Amino acid sequence: MTETVSQDILIIGSGIAGLRAAIEATRRSEGKLSLAVVSKVHAMRSHSVCAQGGTAAVLHADRGDSAEAHIFDTIKGSDYLADQDAAERLVVLAPGEIYQMEHWGMPWSREEDGRVAQRPFGGHSYPRATFAGDRVGFYEMQTLYDTCLRYPNIKFYHEWYVTGLVVDKEGFHGATAIELRSGNFQAFKAKAGIIATGGAGRLYAFATYSHSSTADGLAMAYRAGIPLKDMEFIQFHPTGLVPSGVLITEGARGDGGILVNKDGERFMKKYAAEKLELAPRDIVARAIAREIQEGRGLRDESGLEHVHLDLRHLGAEKIKERLSEIREVCMKLRGIDPIEQLIPVRYVCHFTMGGIHANIDGATQVKGLWSAGEAACISVNGANRLGTNSTAICLVWGGITGAAAAEYAMHHESANFPQQGVMQEEKRVYDGIFHGGGRENPYEIKHELEKTMDEYANVFRTGEGLAEALKRVRALKGRAYQHVEDKSREYNMNFVNVLELQSMLDVAETVLAGAHARQESRGAHFRTDFPKRDDTHWLKHTLAYMTTNGLRLDYCPVTITRFQPKERTY
Ligand SMILES: Cc1cc2nc3c(=O)[nH]c(=O)nc-3n(C[C@H](O)[C@H](O)[C@H](O)COP(=O)(O)OP(=O)(O)OC[C@H]3O[C@@H](n4cnc5c(N)ncnc54)[C@H](O)[C@@H]3O)c2cc1C
Repeated sequence: MTETVSQDILIIGSGIAGLRAAIEATRRSEGKLSLAVVSKVHAMRSHSVCAQGGTAAVLHADRGDSAEAHIFDTIKGSDYLADQDAAERLVVLAPGEIYQMEHWGMPWSREEDGRVAQRPFGGHSYPRATFAGDRVGFYEMQTLYDTCLRYPNIKFYHEWYVTGLVVDKEGFHGATAIELRSGNFQAFKAKAGIIATGGAGRLYAFATYSHSSTADGLAMAYRAGIPLKDMEFIQFHPTGLVPSGVLITEGARGDGGILVNKDGERFMKKYAAEKLELAPRDIVARAIAREIQEGRGLRDESGLEHVHLDLRHLGAEKIKERLSEIREVCMKLRGIDPIEQLIPVRYVCHFTMGGIHANIDGATQVKGLWSAGEAACISVNGANRLGTNSTAICLVWGGITGAAAAEYAMHHESANFPQQGVMQEEKRVYDGIFHGGGRENPYEIKHELEKTMDEYANVFRTGEGLAEALKRVRALKGRAYQHVEDKSREYNMNFVNVLELQSMLDVAETVLAGAHARQESRGAHFRTDFPKRDDTHWLKHTLAYMTTNGLRLDYCPVTITRFQPKERTY
């Protein structure tokens, strides 16, 4: 029988959301509950370390900022698809998270007088991006990880790949995982669980995401019967470095960087006369795409078309102090020094607004199971996330779900562990994939998936293109890629990559089906055949269910509390 380890709470994922949840569950239970934090990469290699520009919070009311303004900016930025009660909860709790992080050792950048500094960011009406140079994610992760290490009740399982959830009609019971070092398959039994596995950006080839962002957690939940919500809303960040796609933080524009086309024209004045480069990302990304489409872009040796980001006027001192990481990236990857040269940039896949359907407390439909961070769709981001709101969401809902899972675990007895579910998963993974009878090269299938998503589910979409993409992805799902050539047990990344591919194909289908069905343009989802927002028919969340008859779409209402939808101009 498969070995089973027991703990009170299982947290899948050790990014900002997972680590914050672990700390809060520990605090809430005064260290009495045992926790397992499982991550397919070492915790400090989680994608969150990539976050660059900042974490949103209202800290300086004396300068005019207010909770009301942050709530409104988030809702307007979301193109009115955000649940307004959730946006409000984010804004109310985010400042406390900033100060709490400081108490745990977070080295926030400061002003001359010692106040915590904040920089402007797209779509925010006041500077409220709290930052640590341009390495906010790295420092937040280090602060949280160091704090977790102080608690003996938190056990880390670094480099364990979770394959699936163990749930039944009673609720959540645990998960199954492969230890990458040994290849051993093991079950984790727990009273409560939190999925904090991050986004799905690696469905696209041109992406800012870590290569580990392969939608596993979303696929696990989807296979377990939990719907994925609003998956059609994929964010394209305006400034991916060409040709690698590595992010050039919006903080660069927040600090004064401008975008110019091949004629040196500052084109954003045509698209967002007031906010210019600091309009929300969906608007700036579309502006860049239009400039390129209309022949005012440039072509890189790689063949990729782009525009330029100009930071030269900021001066060497500011660039070295506040944007040192992106300077290093430009120099190392392009041989360009932004102090003296223009940076070639284009829109790039950056964030998954949709995710596991969860309520305002992060609870899923499965009893005892929560979701937090980018994996969850609470929904604060609606159709378009504002920059710096994600790390704030990870901290806030890491805290909320950690506390809720702890309360649940303290007041529930351990149920019988359904070994049947573990056996079924072992069969799916080993008989179906490791010893699968496929003949096709899974890496070619992955390449075709990325090509399809880049081509048809990008900044501009059409019904025809999305129908073609759906046809292709469904065909890819049916191709015989389920096999592993390398049969070794230790660090078998070939095996992991095939498991990840299966997740990505399932999740890609939900993105395309949601986008094909949604006959309107809202936030990051822009249909050239339906270029207007249509509140009468589409002011609602999409829910994608996996059923025995294939994918089924359903819808649920948006929570509107105080801001009625109106036209969105910047
Ligand atoms: C380049 C870049 C810069 C960004 N900058 C900012 C910023 O400045 N401000 C901001 O607010 N947002 C920013 N974002 C977005 C933000 O970084 C992410 O949304 C956020 O860090 C996600 O954190 P998370 O905790 O939800 O998940 P992640 O950090 O993505 O962590 C996911 C975890 O799940 C684990 N996992 C996944 N699958 C499995 C599996 N099958 N088994 C076991 N473990 C698994 C991973 O190992 C990892 O530990 C940026 C994004 C990018 C791409």
